[in-house]
Amino acid sequence: MTDNPNPDDQSDKKVVFKPSISDEQLKTYYSDHFDIKLLWKVLDRESFPRREFGFDRTGHYFTRNKSFSQPEDLKEYMSIYPIRAAYAGAIYADPVRTKTKKYSAFTIHDTEWVGRELIFDLDASDYDPVRQCSCKGRDVCEICWGLMQDAALIMDETLRIDFGFKKLQWVFTGGRGYHCWVLDKETLTLNQEQRSGLVNYMQLINDPGGDQRIEKINNDSILLKERIFRMLTERFVLETKAKVFEEIGIKKTARATMVKKIEQKLYQKIIDIIPQKIPHNQFFDLMVKYRYARIDHKVTIDTRRLIRLPGSVHYHTGYVGQYIDNPESFYPEDAKHIQDITG
Ligand SMILES: [Zn+2]
Repeated sequence: MTDNPNPDDQSDKKVVFKPSISDEQLKTYYSDHFDIKLLWKVLDRESFPRREFGFDRTGHYFTRNKSFSQPEDLKEYMSIYPIRAAYAGAIYADPVRTKTKKYSAFTIHDTEWVGRELIFDLDASDYDPVRQCSCKGRDVCEICWGLMQDAALIMDETLRIDFGFKKLQWVFTGGRGYHCWVLDKETLTLNQEQRSGLVNYMQLINDPGGDQRIEKINNDSILLKERIFRMLTERFVLETKAKVFEEIGIKKTARATMVKKIEQKLYQKIIDIIPQKIPHNQFFDLMVKYRYARIDHKVTIDTRRLIRLPGSVHYHTGYVGQYIDNPESFYPEDAKHIQDITG
């Protein structure tokens, strides 16, 4: 992490995470404040006993292949052990279990996979090569959180309009990003190939940490292209302006003039000067590179993957993962923090 070169510049203010959470605080949170009923916003109640769960206990001991016959049993388990991270996996034909003194193990590989919600993962650290603030890795600030907000906005509309999904639930992970749970019934049984097809439609940046190659948008995706222009242009130009103009070879004096114009928020003029009809132009690529959603495709495609349980505490930040109605206007500092809840 590099320090903010101008400490008086409040625009690059980091979200202050307050770690050092005690085991007692974690147990108190799960026994007294964790509302198990809120899980039904994303998990199906009927199949609950056949759902896999996973846990990071104590920070050194990770365990998965756990099912609970009643939601109260899950809550009790989380209240007994200091749970540093809790995850939900897929639904299987039978409950799964780890090996105990009494029983042998019965894992997700011993039973039939039945289904999992379609989930998309956005993480600010995937924007490290292009973040305009001083954040790296786990840091987030108001500037780079704007990237999460834009990504959520554009994905929400794409999932609803281009794919026709209706039941989307956004979740603040408690860390540095969002999960989007798509809960329309037909998504539950999508196989890896179908999930891959969905994510590939939206994923325009390959190898986000490496060469960040921009995928060419074909004619089938004209809705997506129009959406990117409509939703990202203004914020992109306002926030990355001079740097981008330099990259596309506009001379310094011309840059100053353009920046001035743009700062007056002449949105329509920006749109007018960009040749939108060219299917794959340089401006569009740069806008995608700097502002467009970077989706962690592995999370979407892997149907057996564990995903952070909404309502659980993110141990590294202390924030509680929570459901968000308007991800385009939410900030992590709006979230509940375990220190405030448990004192
Ligand atoms: Zn930042």
